[in-house]
Amino acid sequence: MADLRELYQEVILDHSKRPRNFREMADADRTAVGHNPLCGDRVTVFLKLDGERIADIAFVGQGCAISKASASLMSEVVKGRTAAEAERLFGTFHEMVTRDDARASPPADLGKLAVLAGVSEFPVRVKCATLAWHTLRSALAGREAPATTE
Ligand code: ZN
Repeated sequence: MADLRELYQEVILDHSKRPRNFREMADADRTAVGHNPLCGDRVTVFLKLDGERIADIAFVGQGCAISKASASLMSEVVKGRTAAEAERLFGTFHEMVTRDDARASPPADLGKLAVLAGVSEFPVRVKCATLAWHTLRSALAGREAPATTE
């Protein structure tokens, strides 16, 4: 498992250094901001919607490597999905990062999100990893108030 661990860390580092879809979106249909006071992570999520489908997604923000990598990975996996599919992914993802044995057996249907399974070993990092998702849900729900992990 050591090699896999190394690989996962490389993917996380890569996404935190060169986050995908990291830009402002001037013509976004929905925008939401999120804040994780525990770590100081901040994120703004922009969505372009096509009916129920997330046609495009972008984000900006600042925070720790985990929060950035998680937002980057999320933006890749939810693009093109429906709101309901994104919600289901978040459920599985949240379960993984809060589970004791997630590293041993990450859920198969999470795709590249599985690289964040190691977060489950660091409970204080769970909020970093889920901030972008909470913010995405706010954006999909059209909520005005900032999303918070608290
Ligand atoms: Zn953080």
